[in-house]
Amino acid sequence: MGQLLAIEIVYRGIFQRKLAQNISRTIVLAAHKEGKPGISFGRYSDSPERNGIPAKNFAIVGSDDLTLEEGMAKYEPKEVDVTICVDDTLCKGVESWAWYGLQPINKLLKPNGTLIVTSHQSADHLIAMAHRKETPYNLCIVKGTPSFSGLWVFKDDHTDVRILGTIARVLPGLVSLKSVQQAIQDEWHDAVKAQSAAKAYERASSVTVKPNQGNPEVPYKFELPKWHEMGEGVAIPAIPQGHAMTDPATHKTGGLKPDRNPTFKKFSTRSYRPVVDFDTCIKCTLCWLQCPDTCFDVPPAGLYAANLEACCGCGVCEAVCPAPKCVTMVNEVEFKDNASQWEAWRKDKNGYKTWLKEKIATKPAERQHGFRYRGQYDKETPEMLAIAKEG
Ligand code: SF4
Ligand code: SF4
Repeated sequence: MGQLLAIEIVYRGIFQRKLAQNISRTIVLAAHKEGKPGISFGRYSDSPERNGIPAKNFAIVGSDDLTLEEGMAKYEPKEVDVTICVDDTLCKGVESWAWYGLQPINKLLKPNGTLIVTSHQSADHLIAMAHRKETPYNLCIVKGTPSFSGLWVFKDDHTDVRILGTIARVLPGLVSLKSVQQAIQDEWHDAVKAQSAAKAYERASSVTVKPNQGNPEVPYKFELPKWHEMGEGVAIPAIPQGHAMTDPATHKTGGLKPDRNPTFKKFSTRSYRPVVDFDTCIKCTLCWLQCPDTCFDVPPAGLYAANLEACCGCGVCEAVCPAPKCVTMVNEVEFKDNASQWEAWRKDKNGYKTWLKEKIATKPAERQHGFRYRGQYDKETPEMLAIAKEG
């Protein structure tokens, strides 16, 4: 059997779909230039995609047709040579909407494989976010803001070609820089994009991550029911008439914690999270009413506390809150856990105030998801293009 190389691109559904496709497709086109057969495809169970929910694309390249066919016979690769993570917050782990618990970002990497991440964070920060792995791997950072855009538009900030140039450097047996540049030229007829790939190739450097480095937590998982354990139908019990409104989770009266799916947690969907200032909350209920995922618990004090295991980071609560700076969306890389903010505030109000001030000071000027006004990407892309050019 010849050589088979596999690359996965882990991305945020909808917001980074085109970016992931550009990368996996161009890897294969570049490999074809060297006479190597390859295939690029999206993970079947990620479709249809949902906003922000982690999804995967794969590129598989064989040294010959027979080797590729053997690789394709597997439903999806069980191990990969390179994992590309196009949003650094995904380093915390990946939960597909196809339900498989939380998968570490480095799970499929072969020993001494490379994780490529687009980020402004340091290597130490990203290593601490990723789960520990039994075998060493390499981390290579492509400096830049994670690139988000909507379903129908693409933010052409050269993230795609910078990653392609980086792959040619970290996995030279896959494709050469020359083939990558030729494929870029064929696809986009843009010499500046081909130059960006070359700059990324020159700058790429990796650090080795040892087995004792990283997040020591065991990622949560669960057993899927066997076919013979499934019911023949689904019944949703109604609230009995005249029944006092009790908390469905604790069965106590006072406050309300909505019942939630105990297995599908959703927090890996999030690249930003709401930080709530309970001292300025006017208890208007708008966040509770408008949150599309019913994330707000109502503690007995009548305040509104976002449940951070359930929050998908859409930002609606920040948008509807009428009290100035009461809800602020903050980049997910700033947090280590999903602990209750309300509990922290209840226990130590001054300490919480200091923590909150520090967190909201790091808020980026613009949230990144989607396309919200005409000309947005034209305004945002120059910074990334400058990084691509100058480093
Ligand atoms: S960001 Fe706010 S509105 Fe959106 S899911 Fe989280 S708590 Fe709900
Ligand atoms: S929208 Fe703002 S002010 Fe209103 S209840 Fe929610 S956090 Fe409080």
